[in-house]
Amino acid sequence: MSVAFAAEREGKAASIRPTSVVDGVYDGIYHRLMSLEIAPGARIRIDVLARELGVSQTPIREALSRLEREGLVLKEHLIGYSAAPQWTRKQFEDLYVFRLLIEPEAARLAVINMTPEALQQLEDSAADMGHGEPPVDRNTRYSRFARADAQFHDAILKVAGNDVIRSTLSNQHVHLHIFRLMFHTRVTQEALEEHENLLAAFRAGDPQAAFGAMRDHIERSRDRLLSAFE
Ligand SMILES: [Zn+2]
Repeated sequence: MSVAFAAEREGKAASIRPTSVVDGVYDGIYHRLMSLEIAPGARIRIDVLARELGVSQTPIREALSRLEREGLVLKEHLIGYSAAPQWTRKQFEDLYVFRLLIEPEAARLAVINMTPEALQQLEDSAADMGHGEPPVDRNTRYSRFARADAQFHDAILKVAGNDVIRSTLSNQHVHLHIFRLMFHTRVTQEALEEHENLLAAFRAGDPQAAFGAMRDHIERSRDRLLSAFE
């Protein structure tokens, strides 16, 4: 499902029930999944979560179905929910081959379709990642960064304007899986510098530089994360 479709569904859910409770529950479960407090593949018990988070089972179910659409949890008939299993090395490598085919081209297309407003939004999105609120702890900073990075990359795909590319990548839930793979303190800082190289190409209106900056970013990201499998 595309990000846009998912957002539309959230909007409908929001009109039925106050979002604040579900949002809070969603954040709580998301954080546990990203920090591996709920281990990949582990069963998720609705009654236990309801007790721990001090809410009824209804918002837990709503939050879990949102996380299911995002690929972070799985639902099996008669068994219930479990955390999505960790990627295998093959899944990881396949995905990076795919990203290298698609995202540099998307960055090139983004330069061609860039507007001053779109560039400003990308600048703001990148700045949010670098200068967010002080992190509560390392894991919280990590899961926040994962979301911000997903939004930054999706914003580039949006500007690129190819809906097939955008929805296909969105359905892979790349960032959520990657950032569960490992906790590496330097990943965030290095990625920020690579994002800055991308922004420089966007500012300069240079399609080939944007292509190269995205290719470098994804190759370096792959190399940083490969150590998770060693
Ligand atoms: Zn990135």
